[in-house]
Amino acid sequence: MARRPQSTRHRGPARHRQRRRSARLTLVALVLLLVLVLAGPQYALWSGAPLSPKECVVSAVPSPVPWPATGSPARPAAASYTGLLEQRGGAVSDASCLTRTPVFGVVRARSVADVRAALAFAEEHDLAVSVAGTQHAMGGQASYPGGLVLDMRAFSQVTVDEDRRTATVQAGATWHQVLEAVHPVGLSVSTMPSVDVLSVGGTVSVNAHGLDFRAGSLSSTIRALRVMLADGRVHRVSREQQPDLFRAVVGGYGLFGVILEVELELVDSEMYRLRSRVVDYREFPDVFASDIAGDDSVRLTYTHLSTAPTSLLREAIVYSYERVDVAEPIPALRERSSDRFSRLVFNLARTGDLGQRLKWTAQRELLPRVRGCVQARNEALREAEACMVARNQAMYESLGFLQNRLPQYTDVLHEYFLPHDQLAPFLDELRAQLGTHDARLLSASIRSVDREDIVLDYAQGERFSLVLYLSQATSDAGNADMADLTRALVESSLDLGGTFYLPYQQHYTREQVQQAYPRLDEFFAIKRRYDPSARFRNSFLARYV
Ligand SMILES: Cc1cc2nc3c(=O)[nH]c(=O)nc-3n(C[C@H](O)[C@H](O)[C@H](O)COP(=O)(O)OP(=O)(O)OC[C@H]3O[C@@H](n4cnc5c(N)ncnc54)[C@H](O)[C@@H]3O)c2cc1C
Repeated sequence: MARRPQSTRHRGPARHRQRRRSARLTLVALVLLLVLVLAGPQYALWSGAPLSPKECVVSAVPSPVPWPATGSPARPAAASYTGLLEQRGGAVSDASCLTRTPVFGVVRARSVADVRAALAFAEEHDLAVSVAGTQHAMGGQASYPGGLVLDMRAFSQVTVDEDRRTATVQAGATWHQVLEAVHPVGLSVSTMPSVDVLSVGGTVSVNAHGLDFRAGSLSSTIRALRVMLADGRVHRVSREQQPDLFRAVVGGYGLFGVILEVELELVDSEMYRLRSRVVDYREFPDVFASDIAGDDSVRLTYTHLSTAPTSLLREAIVYSYERVDVAEPIPALRERSSDRFSRLVFNLARTGDLGQRLKWTAQRELLPRVRGCVQARNEALREAEACMVARNQAMYESLGFLQNRLPQYTDVLHEYFLPHDQLAPFLDELRAQLGTHDARLLSASIRSVDREDIVLDYAQGERFSLVLYLSQATSDAGNADMADLTRALVESSLDLGGTFYLPYQQHYTREQVQQAYPRLDEFFAIKRRYDPSARFRNSFLARYV
């Protein structure tokens, strides 16, 4: 009771302070709301996944013309419309959104009978056929002007035979689906591309490669293929059965027939310890020889080169996955929770040096701390750097952050295969070329590949593969700049005894393809033997036959 007057005395100023505090809080909330209202749409634009497929076609990527187009979207063969056509007329595009090809239509195949019916329909109406998976090849490899596109994505069952340790995969399945089928039974794929959204048929058709440098490219991990030729007959081909056809279809860009099924060899699922180290680009070949290839425990690897202006292509982070024995069961596959932060950082890197610096710092300093790996419970592995990851989890990577909503930019891939001692000179040339072009390098990574027993083989020995992910403006000027850069790099790679990968834009001459792929004439001779009426066509055939 004695204290009441005192408390009453203080209540006035206290109320006043409280009112001032709540006014300040309201003001801060209002400012935050305003910032959110103003910046929110920008944040959504720069960090959000695309709401629909991008349409950013400009005119400078030419359509192949030398081979006459068959059929015509303007002259539909109405006589026996089969009902198979999911799209009549119109155009198809690809992951670069720069290669728009007007087509007769698109058939979505759900069964072997659908594929056969589509081929019969094409023959009846004299239409070229192009087979398509997820359409990530970036130069019209999965389309032909006026032709019929056979979209295989709905043909996607995966059957695992645990005893034989094989998976029989319908060609339209993605590697994501394959991993989800093999992981629960403790198995894994021998190799696959480093992005899991691509179709198995589409990647066999380019002989893709990935993180498992010991397994080689896809060709060495395929037991057999079932391929439908233009006449509708299905052939089982392997290194023993019709080996000439097998060696042409793998890496054959859909020019021999439709791959229906792929029988893949499987390996044990394993746990790895992920390590990373930063090295100078000139030291990389030695580090690779001693610490990666020379260390039997290392099963997967890739390397990221700096894209920041201060250390451009000079600093490299080498990632290695070392096999470890663990008592605990291998954890279930986990999807990445959100791509927003990675997409925002990646997109900011498109805008200039500051963004590039931010991205490289995040990659170098932040990523190792936030990487979502399972920490080892095994005492021997409880080092500060220990980061455990399952083999399948390391490959379960959709890189969703590459997709964006920014209409002013698109991305184009390049890949060069270089003798080990020519990597550094090529990087020096690349650095110089980037200085004189507008295209912005968003990512440069190194993997390792070797010679394969197929006709269109991109590696004529042990090679470092250098993958460039470049951002360009979606304009004619952007296209011209990218074409010029590609020509310069193709030339430089060939001068240094290297080669280049064919699934991307075709800014190279027939002579250059011939130099990189000495069996090109044999490839087209096999094509004439198995597909004499050239039913299967695409931009590669049109430009380089
Ligand atoms: C973001 C990105 C990442 C990539 N990462 C890698 C990588 O890590 N390693 C690597 O080696 N490559 C990589 N690539 C290249 C990629 O492997 C090829 O572009 C591959 O062709 C994509 O598969 P797809 O299903 O999209 O094929 P599509 O683009 O649809 O088709 C490509 C070719 O395959 C043919 N084809 C497709 N399906 C069949 C079928 N069922 N039967 C016969 N022919 C068929 C088509 O006719 C065409 O010639 C990458 C490409 C992108 C865009």
